[in-house]
Amino acid sequence: MDRCPLVAGNWKMNGLIASLAEIAAMGTAYDLALKKKVELIICPPATLIGLALDVAMLNGIGLGGQDCHAAESGAHTGDISAEMLKDAGATYVILGHSERRADHGETDNIVRVKATAALRAGLKPIICVGETRHEREAGEALSVVGRQIEASLPGDAPGTIVVAYEPVWAIGTGLTPTLEDVAQMHAFARERIEARLGGGKSEDVRILYGGSVKPANARELMHVPNVDGALVGGASLTARDFMAIAEAY
Ligand code: PEP
Repeated sequence: MDRCPLVAGNWKMNGLIASLAEIAAMGTAYDLALKKKVELIICPPATLIGLALDVAMLNGIGLGGQDCHAAESGAHTGDISAEMLKDAGATYVILGHSERRADHGETDNIVRVKATAALRAGLKPIICVGETRHEREAGEALSVVGRQIEASLPGDAPGTIVVAYEPVWAIGTGLTPTLEDVAQMHAFARERIEARLGGGKSEDVRILYGGSVKPANARELMHVPNVDGALVGGASLTARDFMAIAEAY
């Protein structure tokens, strides 16, 4: 088992051209020693991917989209295909984020079809799963996440997929699960990924933790067994915080 940790920044609907200066500052701080320990990617709004390409990739920082359409092209006004993200310079795409599931009614089935499209285009999908507060309080966290993994992951996915466990109640709230809860969920997630993919493939799948990761809690969260990195929202918007999280390795 040799999974390189991945720290991914999700900028959501934030970032203008001026924000490229933050990516440049991340690149400056991403020195050789850190590159050996952790892979970094930023998922800016699609408007910035092409513009960020030089500054990010020359410094070894990857880029990702935040969603893609299942089709390669066609009459889908406002949508972006996986092929377009790839063409713009992305190597990853976040899929099934809880904000997409809530705002756009994305189901596990839609997420799975999009993940298949991402793989078709040569992108690595970061597939998000996670329970709501209500589901956790009802004791359903494991069953919800198990169901999401079963239904959102393409069954024949190679080791290029990434799964992000993001409890919905921890996103943008400053709340995080206990380290014991994170350990339990990530071990369970790997079991369910193995049940889905088979053949020992789950050992190649990186499982990120996401939800209020900050410089102050990154080290303890990143060293929980089966946590192979972080999906970071708010704290990825500045080079200072994002690189402090990356330094947790
Ligand atoms: C996210 O939206 O993926 C996320 C983890 O957000 P935050 O870090 O701000 O909680």
